Amino acid sequence: MSRVHNFNAGPAAIPLEVLEKAQAEFINFENAGMSIMEMSHRGAIYERVNQEAQDLLRELLNIPNNYKILFLQGGASTQFATIPMNFLTEGKVAAIVDTGAWAGKAKKEAEIIGETIVAASTKADSYMRTPSQEEIVVPDNAAYVHVTSNETIGGVQYKEFPTFGNIPVIADMSSDILSRPIDVSQFGMIYAGAQKNLGPSGVTIVIVRDDLIAESPKTIPAMFRYDTHSKANSLYNTPPSFAVYMVGLTLKWIKEKGGVAELAKINEAKTKLIYDVIDESNGFYIGCAQKQNRSTMNITFRIKSEDLEKQFLKEAEAAGFIGLKGHRDVGGLRASTYNAVSYESCAQLAQFMKTFMQANA
Ligand code: PMP
Repeated sequence: MSRVHNFNAGPAAIPLEVLEKAQAEFINFENAGMSIMEMSHRGAIYERVNQEAQDLLRELLNIPNNYKILFLQGGASTQFATIPMNFLTEGKVAAIVDTGAWAGKAKKEAEIIGETIVAASTKADSYMRTPSQEEIVVPDNAAYVHVTSNETIGGVQYKEFPTFGNIPVIADMSSDILSRPIDVSQFGMIYAGAQKNLGPSGVTIVIVRDDLIAESPKTIPAMFRYDTHSKANSLYNTPPSFAVYMVGLTLKWIKEKGGVAELAKINEAKTKLIYDVIDESNGFYIGCAQKQNRSTMNITFRIKSEDLEKQFLKEAEAAGFIGLKGHRDVGGLRASTYNAVSYESCAQLAQFMKTFMQANA
């Protein structure tokens, strides 16, 4: 059976080893006579799967003990709403750093809940960079500063994160969590849907400083309160057990690969192959993001004519390269090179791009 070179933006590639392990355990998990999906989430086996995934995530990201790890549902999009519901209390403002499409959605939801300001925006630069620390203006009464670590659509990534003293930074890391080492203690909260770097869709990872969620406002229904899920160790209601199990397998795979620092090196090398083709193409390919903020997860680029872009996509697909169409809001081309996309796939794409250029320049 042949597998494609999968450059999908999300859901995205999952390591073959992870899929094979899940396949081997699919029908009869640990001799329980049933699959992981068929057993009670209150049983000893699932409790261990839940705990092991948390412990591995803590180990791989070096998460300090005063941070809780939660496995939630509703995608990162639900976090856009629950963050202001839990933290944007009376007299406070939500400060959003506007770097593109996903930051914009976080802002929209916060506005529904309470006073929201844009602490900085790179709209004037077509969202092709992240702002510097100095550009970000945060009022004293900010409940938090929200940043989008990697804009999946724009292909723009923070290389360093801003800090604001006692005001917590909350980062949407949906499209680059576990792609590089981070200092978790710089953040009040980090969240990410699993479906890009961590496994299948259906579970959202939240890493949050425990003092921030000690007690959520009483006016919020139970499912939307972080303290509910924290007190219940992410077992308040029926969890997305298969997705959590798959996240656990993916984390084991990351550990076997040498951990996050090792993956970061591979991700840099992978994306360099493709950015180099763009940079050495004499304008045939045009990189979208400014160089200092180029993403190691989503490479966004254009070809000098839209007709050539269409032809590129068609020929790429025929050659086994899948998912290279840019997001429908911005057009162009995008190669998503998440952890599970191999160096070999990137090398072959780079070669394909060169050949396509030679034939069409
Ligand atoms: N934030 C970012 C940066 C994303 O890339 C996405 C999904 N592509 C989301 C949030 C929304 O995630 P979900 O679909 O899990 O709600």
